Amino acid sequence: MKRFRKPISVVLSLLLVFLCFACLSVPRAEAASQGICSVIFMIGDGMGMNHLRLAEQEGYTLFMESGADLSGWSRTRSYSHTVTDSAAGATALSCGVRITNRQLCVFPSDMNKTGLQPRIITENALSHGMRVGIVTTDKTNGATPGGFSVHTDSRDNAEDISAQQLSSGFDLIWGAKTSTVSKTAAAEHGYTYVSNVTELRALETGTRSFAQLPSDCWKLTPSKSSPTLAEMTARSLSLLSADAPYGFFLMVEGAHIDKISDDTGDDGAVDYPSKRADTAEAVAAFDLAVQAAVEFARQDGHTMVIVTADHETGNLYADDASGEYAFHSASHTGKDVPVFVYCASDLFAEGAAVNNSDFANLIASRLGWEERFPIEDPAPVQEPSGSEGGAPAESDGRNFFRRVIDWFRALFQSISDWFRR
Ligand SMILES: [Zn+2]
Repeated sequence: MKRFRKPISVVLSLLLVFLCFACLSVPRAEAASQGICSVIFMIGDGMGMNHLRLAEQEGYTLFMESGADLSGWSRTRSYSHTVTDSAAGATALSCGVRITNRQLCVFPSDMNKTGLQPRIITENALSHGMRVGIVTTDKTNGATPGGFSVHTDSRDNAEDISAQQLSSGFDLIWGAKTSTVSKTAAAEHGYTYVSNVTELRALETGTRSFAQLPSDCWKLTPSKSSPTLAEMTARSLSLLSADAPYGFFLMVEGAHIDKISDDTGDDGAVDYPSKRADTAEAVAAFDLAVQAAVEFARQDGHTMVIVTADHETGNLYADDASGEYAFHSASHTGKDVPVFVYCASDLFAEGAAVNNSDFANLIASRLGWEERFPIEDPAPVQEPSGSEGGAPAESDGRNFFRRVIDWFRALFQSISDWFRR
């Protein structure tokens, strides 16, 4: 009997691989029949509807509202607070579950989900063979990019966020420079390290890239070595779509709408002319990125674009007397935020208000995924650090789930390469 064990286990393993491949192939067929295979999810961090009005008052003509095929609203609260922070806000959008402020893609402790963690939409996209990218004007380990890529109990865990991102298997992660990603670390994880616009333009299809760009990439006209968010969006789309038999998921964040809106002047003022001008510029730069994404999607015919915000920042409204838009707070608010959809005009009813935690399932349905968020995955077991002479455990080794995803992704890549030959 013993001598049959090995062949049987080999046959069972092959059967398992076949079944997994078959299961993963079904959604692609369904997605193709619905016409949408790829998603561009764009977040204007802190962008309320009045941020658009302010930008118009400052002289900009915007595309995102007038060019939308469908408009509505998103209710932004988190599990723990009426007013969300960006970490819980991103998690609601990416995992389909509201969680505790300042945490990233982990269940609140009082939800009794010990040992489980919510799957991120990007992780699910990888498991379906899709390519995945993250583009932001924030540092790559910021709260919003973190909310689409890592599981950790604090947005302040900068090193852990970067380490998990390097092990994510995503095709590209681009944003402003952090101190927690080195060229060597990027190379060790198979990423081409990019530090300026010239290197960004030189990237070849099929290369995984980790960009650490100048911090002024949010501006309409940044320094010579920096791309604009619109260029980052267009470039990432051309790289992701070039070799994506199962489609792609791209998250793009305009982070500086929030960063400027919650600033206070030297005297503590929450509203002053240069703040209004800079906020309007950040909105206009994000709007150009939206335009680039929608141009791509309309030409492609199999991609949808969703634009929304994680929360409103600055309690921006027009003053009675002057009619001018002005900030009345230097914090986040609990206001509903706008949603604009392109190339999927029936995603929800025109003018409807959806919850921030609804988006993951709206996307899942459109892509033909059978899974429904929140998806509960086993959390990786934390190995005690300090054993074996105090060497910290490698984050790669702790995350079994991510390694399984990588394995499937490599399998898909090999099979699609084989078919193309
Ligand atoms: Zn935010």
